[in-house]
Formats: sequence, structure tokens, C-alpha cells
Amino acid sequence: MGFYSQVKKQVSTREAAEHYGFKVGRNGMMKCPFHDDRNPSMKVDQNFICFGCQEKGDVIRFVSKLFDLPPYDAAVKLTEDMGLTVTAENRPGVQPGIRKKAKRERTERQQFEQSVDRVYGVYCDYFRLLNQWAEEYAPRSPTEDLHPLFVEAMHQREYVEYLLDLLLYGSSVVVKLFCNTYGLIIRYSSPCLKWCLISIV
Ligand SMILES: [Zn+2]
Repeated sequence: MGFYSQVKKQVSTREAAEHYGFKVGRNGMMKCPFHDDRNPSMKVDQNFICFGCQEKGDVIRFVSKLFDLPPYDAAVKLTEDMGLTVTAENRPGVQPGIRKKAKRERTERQQFEQSVDRVYGVYCDYFRLLNQWAEEYAPRSPTEDLHPLFVEAMHQREYVEYLLDLLLYGSSVVVKLFCNTYGLIIRYSSPCLKWCLISIV
């Protein structure tokens, strides 16, 4: 397999973008570095495409454009930065230690993303429930006692929406903090949310 193919097989554009500090949303969208992008209009997965400036290509092209490098140099940079294994002759060697470290970092990042996905899913479900309760249990007359689920919906909706935004757009530091205090959040949640949260752990 050729040098470029080996690089592309081992690292997706999304992984590279995240490695170089870009924040990629759950839907794979990020702000395009190649035009003045206010809202995320670039989709990154294996390859990338920008719906704003139409720029597109594979991970090598992405890095090549990002650092203003010829494609070969971009591929070399990727093997070094991401600790990739390249088997062909005359290719840059990578020290095993560096490779192992990069692999471990990638695994940790994937595990972290999976846990964020799970937490996000639960909060989405809970948010849908709250909206449902706000409709279903709304008092029909001014004298009617407020249903506890309606009260919960009124109290929690805005907060949960804020948490969802935080998980989706927060910096990784904020999201990490959120996930680290997850146990506390479970302890102080309403019985219903607690049940939702515990069911996914
Ligand atoms: Zn663009």
C-alpha cells in the first residue's frame, strides 16, 4: 500500500482536526479554517467538505491546506504528529514510544467521546420528557393544583437545555468537568432523571 493510502487508512480528517485543536460537534460539523466561518459549516469524517466555501478532500489535503505544505510533507507531518505506522521503505520512522502514546491518547479520547455521547443521549431523552410533561400536565384551570411533573418541567427545562448546549458546544475542559461531576449530578437529580441516568451507566 502506498504511503498516502497508509496515512489515510490510519487517520480520519476528523481525528486530525481534533488533534490540531478544532472543536468538532457531535454531528461532525466544525468551523471551516479555510474561510471566515461564523457557524460550523464544515463536515468532517474520513474526509471533509465545507458547505460554505466548497473546499473538500481527504485528510492529507486538509493538513496540506491547514499548514500550507505540499501533500507529501503534510503526510509526513501526520505520521509524526499522530504517531502512525508506515511500513514502506524510505518513509519517516516513528519511535515506538511516540506511537504507543499517541494510540493511548486516541483511545482515551474515543472513550471520553463515547461517555459524552451517552450523557448527551440521556439528557436529550429527559428534555423530550420535560416538554411532554409541560403539555400533558399543564393545569386546565387556574384553581387546579399543579401536577408535580408539570412543576418539574417548569423548573428543569431551561437548565437541561443549557446542559445540552454545554455538552454540544462547550470546550473539552468544560465537558470534562461536567462528566467528572456526573456522579454528583445523579445524586441531586429528580427521581425520574436519576432513573434515566442510572439506566445507562
Ligand atoms: Zn469553508
